[in-house]
Amino acid sequence: MQTISKASCTMASFPCTRVKSGLCVWPGMKQLCLRKGLPYGLLRFLSIPFKTLWGASRSLKVTQFCTVSSVSSSLQIELVPCLKDNYAYLLHDVDTGTVGVVDPSESRPIIDALSRKNRNLNYILNTHHHYDHTGGNVELKARYGAKVIGSGMDRDRIPGIDIALNGGDKWMFAGHEVLVIETPGHTRGHISFYFPGSGVIFTGDTLFSLSCGKLFEGTPEQMASSLKKITALPDDTNIYCGHEYTLVK
Ligand SMILES: [Zn+2]
Repeated sequence: MQTISKASCTMASFPCTRVKSGLCVWPGMKQLCLRKGLPYGLLRFLSIPFKTLWGASRSLKVTQFCTVSSVSSSLQIELVPCLKDNYAYLLHDVDTGTVGVVDPSESRPIIDALSRKNRNLNYILNTHHHYDHTGGNVELKARYGAKVIGSGMDRDRIPGIDIALNGGDKWMFAGHEVLVIETPGHTRGHISFYFPGSGVIFTGDTLFSLSCGKLFEGTPEQMASSLKKITALPDDTNIYCGHEYTLVK
């Protein structure tokens, strides 16, 4: 049985070893997990009224979050808010200077974040083909020469794709092993990128904080299977999701 603390949100997943600015809500979220006593199974967990959860977010004043965290001795992850409620993530290998971005829905916030640290961009990782996860691909690829990585099933739907990967494939990001996990349901070709050495997974629109993605192309059975794959990962896995759907607007 998995707990909400494992199926955590972007914010809750930041251990805050390096905080650039603002406050980290991890302690608050952890309190939420413990105080609410939420060792629910994921499916029961999804049935909780959103209004209640939003209210919890408001009560915890979840308005700021860590922007950079070190998830291993050499890998840093920086959260980059995009569009209305999307999250892109910059991956930075400190040892080699290699940089990747997960799900850049637009280019400008990514360019700004890279420019602030005078960094290049080597890879673009897409969990699925939707425009709010791939909208920045073409411009970023043209500007930096970055390689675009996505699902082989979405080879024809991901702009600028260079490297097509399928479930079970292994890929290396600057020495960090990346396992591709098929997580269909939201879309047919949705994949998640799991970094076992760092204990992190990028789940795109399969799993959010407190909910899962809409079933645009897949079946409930596919989504349930995908969620089981994620919940089967080690309990200390940090989950980085594609949207922020917990804050009161
Ligand atoms: Zn989507």
